[in-house]
Amino acid sequence: MEFELIEHLRRRIPSHSRLLLGPGDDAAVLQMADIDQCVMTVDLLTDQVDFELEKVDPRRVGRKALAVNLSDLAAMAAEPVAAVISLALPRVGGLELAVKIYEGLLPLAEQYDLAVAGGDTNSWDGPLALSITLIGKALSGHNTEQPRPLRRDGAQPGDRIILTGSFGGSILGHHFDFTPRIREAIILNQKYNLHAGIDASDGLSIDLSHIVKESGCGAILDLDAVPVSKDAQRLAAQLDDGSTSLEHALSDGEDFELILAVSPKEAQRMLTDRPVGVLLTDVGLFVEEPGLWQTDSQHGKRKLIPRGWEHKFD
Ligand SMILES: [Mg+2]
Repeated sequence: MEFELIEHLRRRIPSHSRLLLGPGDDAAVLQMADIDQCVMTVDLLTDQVDFELEKVDPRRVGRKALAVNLSDLAAMAAEPVAAVISLALPRVGGLELAVKIYEGLLPLAEQYDLAVAGGDTNSWDGPLALSITLIGKALSGHNTEQPRPLRRDGAQPGDRIILTGSFGGSILGHHFDFTPRIREAIILNQKYNLHAGIDASDGLSIDLSHIVKESGCGAILDLDAVPVSKDAQRLAAQLDDGSTSLEHALSDGEDFELILAVSPKEAQRMLTDRPVGVLLTDVGLFVEEPGLWQTDSQHGKRKLIPRGWEHKFD
């Protein structure tokens, strides 16, 4: 079965100018002479954790597996270059499943001019697990010729917290269908002096806490300004468990939007220019005192306990 799949993929995966040797040999060979700083990332998705295979078209699973990786490259404001793809397939129906996973991810790879360099496929008695490793190219930042990948650790007290898009309710479908913010991240990093950034994968509050921790500062989130998605509103209405749409926006995760730290002047310029087609919102500021706070017009400043998705293990 494995050889059948490899033969299929050798025919199906398009050639790419970077691929001197593509899938089919022991390893791939890539032309990388133009890359000064290489960005690498990997993500592992498993059935029943990141998706439920009995409820979803495997093509959407394939697309998601690649898109979450692309979102991590977006978080670094890096350009996608190449991917390797590993699948652990259930023994029953594995070949058909693998073909569909590739059918789901290849259009996205093509959209970002990503070279699919190869991968590995095993079968076992467990559920579907898939892992993709991506290579990206760090691009030059604002006012510099040097590569300047966006990092989590550069937020400064006084910086504004800027978000792309809206948050919450991704479980209703957005976590499969989202657009990784590659284009937006690259444009914003080139036009503005971004101090720090992250992609919101675990939840707005928890991902903001990652920036704060790495930067050695604090942040005050203005709850009145948080862009709550329509899905967050729909989910809060559907669940009927007392949760509010704002709570979903703060903690659901898998929004795959960007959280950026930008000086007030740059933030103002960015919000006036609106250089990308997605919503940009100022939702608060970074402060010297470490920790995370929330504020709104009714209650004033108080602690914000970051909530979101966390893989738990001993
Ligand atoms: Mg990330």
